[in-house]
Amino acid sequence: LASITASRNISTSQVHHKVLENSPNAYLDKSILNRYKKLDIPHDKIQATYLWIDGTGEGIRLKDRVLDSVPKKPSDLPKWQYDGSSTYQATGGNSDTLLIPRAIYRDPFKPGKNDVIVMCDTYQADGKPTPTNHRCDMQEAVDKVLESHEPWFGIEQEYTLLDMDGRPLGWPSSGFPAPQGPYYCGVGADRVVGRDLVEAHGIACLYAGIDFAGTNAEVMPAQWEYQVGPSLGMKVADDLWVSRYILHRIAEDFGVVVTFDPKPVVGQWNGAGAHTNFSTKAMRAENGIEAIKAAIEKLSKQQEKHIRAYDPKEGKDNIRRLVGRLETSSISEFSWGIADRGVSVRIPRGVADAKKGYLEDRRPSSNCDPYSVCNALLRTCLVE
Ligand code: ADP
Ligand code: MN
Ligand code: MN
Ligand code: MN
Ligand code: MN
Repeated sequence: LASITASRNISTSQVHHKVLENSPNAYLDKSILNRYKKLDIPHDKIQATYLWIDGTGEGIRLKDRVLDSVPKKPSDLPKWQYDGSSTYQATGGNSDTLLIPRAIYRDPFKPGKNDVIVMCDTYQADGKPTPTNHRCDMQEAVDKVLESHEPWFGIEQEYTLLDMDGRPLGWPSSGFPAPQGPYYCGVGADRVVGRDLVEAHGIACLYAGIDFAGTNAEVMPAQWEYQVGPSLGMKVADDLWVSRYILHRIAEDFGVVVTFDPKPVVGQWNGAGAHTNFSTKAMRAENGIEAIKAAIEKLSKQQEKHIRAYDPKEGKDNIRRLVGRLETSSISEFSWGIADRGVSVRIPRGVADAKKGYLEDRRPSSNCDPYSVCNALLRTCLVE
């Protein structure tokens, strides 16, 4: 410890955790940036962070540019390009990949009150969407049913905090924590880890304009959940991607790694999902339970199609998670039930009692692309 602190010119009290030793991001002094954030930059300069999804279908990429006016709507923002050969989206010889701005958020990291985060989708040189651009497909489905059905989505995003060695944060360096039971919605230093990060994330998401709706500690220690929505049309899927970016950024400050892997620890430890709650105008109206059951009937005939759409590896990630135990259903068989957490699609107890509301699709993995998931739900239940 002494040699580490001497070589880095920091006090011993700053190095009180293995994570700090391992993450250069965590021991850099964050207060230095505040000196520059106070500088008065020209008022007509706006900073914009353009976000997009890379060729893995789960990685988030970004770059910043300076604008000369405040964008009010996505079409006010310039299109942009990037090197798709460095994001698994193009070959070096024809690498320019196009970014089209689609949704605007307030930026909780930049100093200016007009600075923005811009969610984009991506297009090849020939004008076609890149293979991992599922937003384009979802937009087409939304356009067909938005007015007639008013689809709402609400997504529960589960994730796991890791230290720089890839071990769940706060887990003993050898062996395992005590079995699951006390951790879900728990409180206390022996039950939860990383609450500061979780709460910072909630505040930053609300500031950004995300329909952030709540959060809880999960069943496996170092695992957490937050909810987004319910919101109409494209909003939840855009919000979820931006909320993931914000989570990674805040965790970067703390020197902690966020993983959306659906099964970060093998064995008797819960995996991580992205339960997707879905409703239409008819489902929310009196006796909407009939419309909910009609949608479930359609879903029951499309298990394979949905499994392919519910993780970025077309079902391979979910093989590890959907094992029919640990609050999951079997990957190969569709099932549904009321208040049952071991099924593909659950009707919450409150919905069954009120005979209206929404359904919960429990199959999407935590690293799913919400554009792909919502698109599949819209197409199976409403379009086709
Ligand atoms: P649980 O953990 O019991 O499944 P949560 O409270 O974590 O429940 O999540 C409930 C989810 O349902 C939230 O994401 C919320 O946005 C969503 N939701 C609630 N009402 C609707 C609705 N009418 N349509 C779509 N989603 C909804
Ligand atoms: Mn360059
Ligand atoms: Mn939940
Ligand atoms: Mn959960
Ligand atoms: Mn749920």
